[in-house]
Amino acid sequence: MNLINGKEVAAKVKNDVRGDAEYLSDCFGVKPGLAVILVGDDPASAVYVKNKTKDCAEVGFESFEHILPASTTQEELMALVKQLNADKKVHGILCQLPLPKHLNEREIINAIDPKKDVDAFHPENVGRIMIGDYDFLPCTPAGVMELIHSAGISVSGKKCTVIGRSNIVGKPMAMLLLHENGTVTVCHSKTRNLAEECKDADILVAAVGRAKLITADMVKEGAVVIDVGMNRDENGKLCGDVDFESVKDKAGFITPVPGGVGPMTRAMLMKNTLTAYKKAFGIR
Ligand code: NAD
Repeated sequence: MNLINGKEVAAKVKNDVRGDAEYLSDCFGVKPGLAVILVGDDPASAVYVKNKTKDCAEVGFESFEHILPASTTQEELMALVKQLNADKKVHGILCQLPLPKHLNEREIINAIDPKKDVDAFHPENVGRIMIGDYDFLPCTPAGVMELIHSAGISVSGKKCTVIGRSNIVGKPMAMLLLHENGTVTVCHSKTRNLAEECKDADILVAAVGRAKLITADMVKEGAVVIDVGMNRDENGKLCGDVDFESVKDKAGFITPVPGGVGPMTRAMLMKNTLTAYKKAFGIR
C-alpha cells in the first residue's frame, strides 16, 4: 500500500501559489484578495472560515472576513455580494455553506460574479466544467485530481467509481475523471448493489458522509482509493467513508483521513483565488 499524503501535496501547491502571489503582488501593487462570508454560528463553518483566513495569510493573500448574524436577511446578503462583486481588492468570493434555512442559497450563489466564484458553484462555471472549458474547478474534486497526479497515476482507460452525486463533490468529480478518459460509474443512495459497483474499480472515490461505509471486500486488489468523507466515528474521532484499517492492505494507493483530501481542498481554494486574480489583470 502507498499512502498518498495530502498534507505534503497541499504544502507544495500552496508553496507555488505563494511564490506567484509574491511576485505578482509586487508587479501590480495589490495582493490577491479573498472575501469569505459566514452567516450564523455553525461551529464547523466557523472553523472552516478561520482556516481559510489562515491559509490566505500563509500564501500572502489579503483576506476579508464577513461574519454576519443568523438573522441576516436575503436582501442584506445580496447587497453584500453586490458590494464584493464591485470591490477591486476582492478577486475571489466564497459564501460558506450551508446558509441558515431562511436564506435562498441558490440565489446567493447565482449573484456572485462568475469571475470571482472561486468555489466554481455558479451555473456558468458548472456549465463550463461540463464542456471542459473552465477557469476554476470546484476545490475538492480538483484536489482529488491533484492527489491522483501527484502519485503518478494515469486515469485514462481506467474503471473509476465515484460514490456520491452531490453538486459540490460527486458530480464534478465524475466529470473530471471523464475528462481524463476514465470509464466512470456514479453510485448514490439508490444504487442497488454498491459492493458490486465498487469491486471492479481501478480508482474508487468515496464522497458519501457515512463512516467506514467502504470495507475491504468492496475494494479491488491494488485499487486507488480516495476518501473524501469527513465523519466522526463511535469515539468522536475524525474518520472517512473508507474503513482505512481493513482497506489499506488491499489498496495500491490510499488517502488517509485526516491528512488526505481535506488539506487539498483548502490548497485548491488558494489556487483558484490566484487564478481569479491573474485573470483580473489579464494574465493566465
Ligand atoms: P452530500 O450529503 O451532499 O451527498 C452525499 C451523497 O452520497 C449523495 O449523493 C447520496 O446519494 C450518496 N449516498 C448517501 N448514502 C449512500 C449510500 N449508502 N450508498 C451510496 N451513496 C450514498 O455530501 P457531500 O457534500 O457530497 O459530502 C460527502 C462527504 O464528503 C461528507 O462526509 C463531507 O463532509 C465530505 N466532504 C469533504 C470535503 C473535504 O475537503 N475533505 C469537502 C466536501 C465534502
